[in-house]
Amino acid sequence: MKNINNYDYLLADLTKLNGVGKKTMEILKKKKVNNIFDLLWRLPKSYTDRTLVSKICDLQIGVTQTIRIVPVKYQFPRVRNLPNKVNCHDQTGKIDCIFFNSHEGYIRKILPLNKEITISGKIGNYKGRYQITNPTYISQDSSLVETIDNKYSLTEGITEKTYNNIINQILKNLPVLTEWHDEDVLKFFNNESWNDSIVKLHDPTNIENYKSSFYKRLAYDEILASFLVNSEIRKKIKKIKKDSKKFTKKAHNNIIDKLNFNLTNDQNKSLNDINKDLSSKSKMFRLLQGDVGSGKTIVALISSLSVINSGFQVALMAPTEILARQHYVLAKKLFPKDICIELLSSKSENAEKKRIVKELNDNKVNMVFGTHAIFQKKIIFANLGYIIIDEQHKFGVRQRKLLSDKGGDNCDILLMSATPIPRTLTMSVYGDMDISIIKEKPSHRKEVKTYSKLESKIDDIINFVKKEIKEGNQVFWVCPLIEESKKLDHQSSVTKYDYLNKIFPNKVALLHGKINNEEKEIILNKFLNKEYSILVSTTIIEVGIDFPNANVIIIENANKFGLSQLHQLRGRVGRGNKQASCILVFKSNLSVNAKKRINILKNSNDGFEISEEDMKLRGFGDLLGFKQSGVKNYRLADPIQNEDLFLMAEKEIKKIELENTNINKYNALLKLYDQADIINDMV
Ligand code: ADP
Ligand code: MG
Repeated sequence: MKNINNYDYLLADLTKLNGVGKKTMEILKKKKVNNIFDLLWRLPKSYTDRTLVSKICDLQIGVTQTIRIVPVKYQFPRVRNLPNKVNCHDQTGKIDCIFFNSHEGYIRKILPLNKEITISGKIGNYKGRYQITNPTYISQDSSLVETIDNKYSLTEGITEKTYNNIINQILKNLPVLTEWHDEDVLKFFNNESWNDSIVKLHDPTNIENYKSSFYKRLAYDEILASFLVNSEIRKKIKKIKKDSKKFTKKAHNNIIDKLNFNLTNDQNKSLNDINKDLSSKSKMFRLLQGDVGSGKTIVALISSLSVINSGFQVALMAPTEILARQHYVLAKKLFPKDICIELLSSKSENAEKKRIVKELNDNKVNMVFGTHAIFQKKIIFANLGYIIIDEQHKFGVRQRKLLSDKGGDNCDILLMSATPIPRTLTMSVYGDMDISIIKEKPSHRKEVKTYSKLESKIDDIINFVKKEIKEGNQVFWVCPLIEESKKLDHQSSVTKYDYLNKIFPNKVALLHGKINNEEKEIILNKFLNKEYSILVSTTIIEVGIDFPNANVIIIENANKFGLSQLHQLRGRVGRGNKQASCILVFKSNLSVNAKKRINILKNSNDGFEISEEDMKLRGFGDLLGFKQSGVKNYRLADPIQNEDLFLMAEKEIKKIELENTNINKYNALLKLYDQADIINDMV
């Protein structure tokens, strides 16, 4: 009898399986296989077909083959280090079975004399005789040997046979789950049920059969599970009632009048989105996504002023103090004088910090800037109405949800991200939020000119740098991060610093991972104040800091970086009015493929386009920051290959939201894909 709907079996730990003891469990745990369900996604890479039976005369040495033999004589030498041997034959020839470390009794049992035995293994040769060593596929019952066995890549420490037994056991015991998809969806996948699909997934003849219906069905399940959670979170947040904030044109104009530029269309559109949310009665949970330099800060500040004018406090959190300070200084310049804003910095005097904390509590401070420190327990806002988080693309759904809760019901949330990612990925990663996108760059801006140079042509680069410095421009010199070794990483930047310092005495600053935060900020501030012309660094220089005077970025060993990352690095220059340049330095001539990649970068300045190309070339898991971010990697679904499925899931979710469908029918799906607890725990 099959288990009906009993998905608990799949979520059970591995010791529920016959043949899995503590040792095997530990090995699998190391491979992040924690329960039976996890095992289903380790797919066979290839397989060994043991169903073809050969004659001894036809055997090929070095190949795994299956034969039917009759044991005729035991040779048990009783001398240490000499293996036990059994002479066997069929009608066409002779073969020896060799056993190291096996007892006589065991050998007599598995190879009884004069009985036909089926045996499978790699055929060896010793002094002109065929032999097979320590055979594990061996039985009088030929059906137990003549099998097709999958080869899985994670079987170190576990034999292929054991692993296959485990998988077969699971496939045999798969619970029959009530179908969660509607008829028409199911039809699209050729009516493949979840069960059948899983079985087919492990069928060796289906290896890499990505285009088949069963594979797509499973990928779609996975996408839908993650979209459903996002949708549930979004719905629940939307239900939270809040006091609406008033948006006034006056506040808007107050700031615009002080700027020497007009907002771009996309900036205006984003502001409209935000203002609509702010003035509605439900809580805002919005992402403002825009390439580096697209001008998100201004949008954040204008909307903040509306919130302040409505009588609420605003908190803006930046990833670093220096960035928080930069935002603070800008707000100080743009806000009317009667608005009280503060910077909460770890460097402030204690008394000063105390004063700010007290005044936040007394509702005397209208807006506070800082790092995550502004959300310490001891900081109690009198009337917090708006949280803005800058450059935190590394937040996962859970962390975001926690933040949203922190501000309380009345608090609107705006997240800003400078990581352009392809649309399919945006839906997966930020599907719990509403999204505004700034695609357009400020119009006056000149595109950064991108060049590639061989390392051997460093003299040319130096001459170029000399010329730029003469014109009062500043230069970033990025040394590659050598991930294998922190020490090497640090050395490469120190060596470069020494080299450049000889050519440009007293004009070079150095920043690397070993320099502590405090020192780092001092150096960055000095660079901002033009005390240095060149900043040598590993990639740790912050994204987001506005260095209007930096015009050149030189990136060594550029092939070490992904396109999106190069684009982000490049975005650190070219914010002023002058023509900026980015020089990509390579150790050797580029391969055709590398050239193709670099050309994408040279020809495009659109982060969204670049990230899409990057994803096509490298896979989405590698996209800037997302690997480390805890953002869920799909097991089967691929945002590039399965774009149609992502769009289909998006449509389905819209339908579910519109028709207010009860999602109980997806319970098993959500449970299995480890999504249910997010909905239950967090909302
Ligand atoms: P990001 O989106 O990367 O956070 P910023 O907000 O730091 O970008 O803006 C980058 C630079 O562009 C700033 O110096 C800002 O003053 C300027 N800027 C923003 N909007 C415009 C605009 N519409 N026209 C011209 N310059 C702008
Ligand atoms: Mg920014």
